[in-house]
Amino acid sequence: MKNLKSLSGLTLLLVAGMASASQFGPNNQPDLIQPKLREMLRTANTAMLSGDYERAIAYSNSVLVDGDIKFSVNTDGIPDAQRAEARAAADQAIALWSEALNGEVNFVEVEPRKANVRINFQTEVRNMGTNIAGFAVWQRQVFDWGNNNFTSNITADIKLRSQTPTGRLMPKDAMVHTAAHEIGHVLGLWDSPTFGDIMGPLYLKSPVTKLSERELTAFREARSEAKQITQACLVAKTR
Ligand SMILES: [Zn+2]
Repeated sequence: MKNLKSLSGLTLLLVAGMASASQFGPNNQPDLIQPKLREMLRTANTAMLSGDYERAIAYSNSVLVDGDIKFSVNTDGIPDAQRAEARAAADQAIALWSEALNGEVNFVEVEPRKANVRINFQTEVRNMGTNIAGFAVWQRQVFDWGNNNFTSNITADIKLRSQTPTGRLMPKDAMVHTAAHEIGHVLGLWDSPTFGDIMGPLYLKSPVTKLSERELTAFREARSEAKQITQACLVAKTR
């Protein structure tokens, strides 16, 4: 778990059942991709090299988020007057990721009980007594059913704060930043130490509403690695 304090004392918190030793990626820069996603890419690559193509494809496709993301947005927990703005913030965050994904993954809104990714706005969000801007608990899994039969899924529960710790309404762009940050975790990105990154700290006075070039590059590189594995396996299978 990694907490990033912002200048205004709000933290975007990531909660997940994984170790979080800070790690370094290519060129010794902090890796913007989650350890879990790197691990899945390694598993896919190893499986491919040993001719275990279906397993390799299952893992690389899981990295790519195979299929739609079924999401729901719930604003019942916040005052009426703020609901439209919170909703618009969630939509803007989703649009930002759709664009980063070049439309390769569809975000489809469904009712909460059918959703894989649930986005909930609350007036406040706390973790162990500390005010935080939001958090996501997510799971990305590949199931091996035997006989070369694999399925995968992604589920996430996202909680987002609609009011500042002093009781003011969160500015809309701050909600966009928080929502986009938590969706970024669901898609495989890791916290960034850099101000100006979506995956970086939230500063209420200057929230970030688009991905930095660095983030976009890291995200697309990881996806392109997965695409190459899937492609190579599909070709190898037909030989
Ligand atoms: Zn985070």
